[in-house]
Amino acid sequence: MQTQLAEFIRDSAEGREADAILRKCVHCGFCTATCPTYQLLGDDLDSPRGRIYLMKRVLEGGPLSGRTRLHLDRCLTCRACESTCPSGVRYGRLVDIGRAVVEARTTRPLPDRAARALLSFALPRARLFGAALKLGRLARPLLPGFMKRKILPARAPGEWPAPRHARRMLALAGCVQSALAPSINAAAARVLDRLGVSLVEAPGAGCCGALRFHLNRQEAGRDDMRALVDAWWPLVESGSVEAIVMTASGCGATVREYAHLLGEDPDYRHKAARISSLTRDLCEVIAAEQLPARSGLGRVAFQSPCSLQHGQQIRGKVEALLARAGFELAPVPDAHLCCGSAGAYSLLQPALAAQLRLRKLRALHEGRPQRIATANIGCLAHLQGGTPTPVAHWVELLDEALEGRTFPGA
Ligand code: SF4
Ligand code: SF4
Repeated sequence: MQTQLAEFIRDSAEGREADAILRKCVHCGFCTATCPTYQLLGDDLDSPRGRIYLMKRVLEGGPLSGRTRLHLDRCLTCRACESTCPSGVRYGRLVDIGRAVVEARTTRPLPDRAARALLSFALPRARLFGAALKLGRLARPLLPGFMKRKILPARAPGEWPAPRHARRMLALAGCVQSALAPSINAAAARVLDRLGVSLVEAPGAGCCGALRFHLNRQEAGRDDMRALVDAWWPLVESGSVEAIVMTASGCGATVREYAHLLGEDPDYRHKAARISSLTRDLCEVIAAEQLPARSGLGRVAFQSPCSLQHGQQIRGKVEALLARAGFELAPVPDAHLCCGSAGAYSLLQPALAAQLRLRKLRALHEGRPQRIATANIGCLAHLQGGTPTPVAHWVELLDEALEGRTFPGA
């Protein structure tokens, strides 16, 4: 596609990147077939092709309004369109650039601004979020149904094995996950410990920056990224960890992009590139080890988060690990479609998120699973809010299988 970017952005790094991405799009529309919002709303401006058209217009200095922002807000940033696009259009990067421009040039209504400010303040702060969660759990019986469903019951983490192996890997303690489900990193530590790897966390390591970055507070998100780089750097620099293991695929997709997201910062560029190169999803790490084979455990449906299958282009690995550990995999139709969680999307676009969850849960239940597994805390909490079927991180199931604990219903 031909482009003529406006002066305000043409000569910046973002402008050059956006221009190169826009020029790759041939407007074929293949991507519309896999776009969840286009499937729900049927409006071309809620498809990748339509949003690309809107962003091109904005970047060329054309008119923009609250409607432009709405169509971009409705995008889940699931990146299913990137997996589908035959021309290699990097929609995810383009929408980051387009959103930043639209955010700077329009004014949101006050309630929207207030909600975003609150989420941006509270979600990345693990202690604050954890305290609010404790209060919410106490008040749970008094809350209306839709709020009750958002509050996951407490999950006991269990023991974290003391570091005893020469091989060490670094885990991200993170923000929301460490409060909602500390059991996930502890289960990962136990599984890796059995495979000869000690998992450690760095003191002071918090949010990866994805939450604020995708709430369109991109500089605040970058500050979170820099803070995490600082917390990790002593362990990385000393060479005492061989990899950085991500147990939430949403965080993994972001940390893998640090090299790019901090690429313009001369103080952090090299550290960010080193950290991105060391980052692995947990399934990649375990797949490289000798996981004992078992059989006869329960039937599980795996929900592959968009940040795993589209963001990181990792497909089939978790399913293979679950099968090797002894679980029977229930088939899941339309597995490429987003569940509607998408970071803070389910809080900011609740109606669309609820419709997507309903569709996803129908698909997940089609193979009559006893449990649902996922790879991202946001998807876990969102899905669990819509079903009585237990939803867990897949490594929690692996941990149970390796410990020989009985599987409910098996
Ligand atoms: S993003 Fe890709 S699939 Fe979609 S219209 Fe452009 S070239 Fe076609
Ligand atoms: S990122 Fe997802 S919701 Fe957004 S345009 Fe692409 S497919 Fe549609």
